[in-house]
Amino acid sequence: MSFKKSQKLYTKGLQHLVGAVNSPVRAFASVGGNPLFIKKAKGSKIVDVDDNKYVDLVLSYGPMILGHRHKKVEKAVKNTLKKGYSFGASTENEIKLAKIVCDAFPGMDKVRFVNSGTEAVLSGIRLARAFTGKDKIIKFSGCYHGHQDALLVAAGSGLATLSLPGSKGVPEGAVKNTLIAEYNNLESVKAHFEKYDDIAGVIIEPVGGNMGVVIPQNDFLKELKELAHKNGAVLIADEVMTGFRSTFGGAQEKLGVVADITCLGKVIGGGFPVGAYGARNEIMENVAPLGGMYQAGTLSGNPIAMAGGISTLTELKKQNPYDKFEEIGGIIEVILLETAKKYNVDLSVNRFGSMLNPFFTKTKVTNFKEAQTSDTQKFAVFFWEMIKNGVFLPPSQFEAWFLNSAISEKDIKVIADATDKAMQKVANS
Ligand SMILES: *Cc1c(COP(=O)(O)O)cnc(C)c1O
Repeated sequence: MSFKKSQKLYTKGLQHLVGAVNSPVRAFASVGGNPLFIKKAKGSKIVDVDDNKYVDLVLSYGPMILGHRHKKVEKAVKNTLKKGYSFGASTENEIKLAKIVCDAFPGMDKVRFVNSGTEAVLSGIRLARAFTGKDKIIKFSGCYHGHQDALLVAAGSGLATLSLPGSKGVPEGAVKNTLIAEYNNLESVKAHFEKYDDIAGVIIEPVGGNMGVVIPQNDFLKELKELAHKNGAVLIADEVMTGFRSTFGGAQEKLGVVADITCLGKVIGGGFPVGAYGARNEIMENVAPLGGMYQAGTLSGNPIAMAGGISTLTELKKQNPYDKFEEIGGIIEVILLETAKKYNVDLSVNRFGSMLNPFFTKTKVTNFKEAQTSDTQKFAVFFWEMIKNGVFLPPSQFEAWFLNSAISEKDIKVIADATDKAMQKVANS
């Protein structure tokens, strides 16, 4: 397998792009080697510029849940393109997507569309503060909520992969209202509520996806919501990754918890830049023009992006691939665990529906600290051998793998064969 053209583009890219990438997760910092450049993708497969073909488990870090270039999505986007790209005025499609989203999430009466997950969360945080009149926010170590200043501490994969504790350029003042708690540890949240009386909200990934996949244990989310409400704070569910992914109504539906404020991104745009935040009327009425919390966007609700979102979600609802995801996810989980056992490699696998990943550790992973017991060098060996055997994975131990509804039995066979070779290589490394 040759990566010559990717290498050439990487070298060329270094001149005018930072590290030749536009998001650090795309760099191969922790697995070594140079990032691959992609030429095209269709269905469950992605092709790099050297014409190497892979089964894609990255899926643009989640959005491509139907696989790449689904017929219906392509048609909807092409038709919309003919009518114009952006107007700075409302279009009917915004109302349509809003209905699809609010119907899926019972905690959302109203929604505001933005252009990214980062924007959705920073607006959701502002809304929690506007609604409660308080300043402090509790976040969990290992959860990532986009790259806004206030939440760029203990923020999971991107930083963990580069071994960064936080980000330079974030002033102390920007994080002085951010409190850190430990995932699955209610006592660590209680301690903050006992100490501070100006906590506006608790933000959480209802299923962690940015420290590898980490699942809330027992009734953690329910108890978290009760605790927040008892103290006059709101629960903010950052479902940018989990929304529409493992059930149509997100992790909240699957786990039976309704958050006060929900943030969405990734799947909601089907590969186009869409983010959203929403809540019940009482909360959303604080947002301008109804209320005094300002939040705006030149390209928000962009017609092309709305068409991508509506067609993706409509097709997703029709396909209802969630049982299939559960089944295939289960098969891949077993493949990983059994090959690890075969070659005597310590491995722990976490999975939530169509999100999963192996941790190269024997520790059961329920929080960031436990995730960090993973052997990232073993992951690097595993990663490259998977690539060489036709499986495109995120280049980090701390990123989730994703399934799409176009995945075939043949793809699963490719994954199984690659896993066998990769695990053997790990055992011999
Ligand atoms: C990806 C992600 C974000 C940020 O979304 P962007 O579109 O990358 O800005 C925020 N929160 C979670 C949980 C995410 O997975």
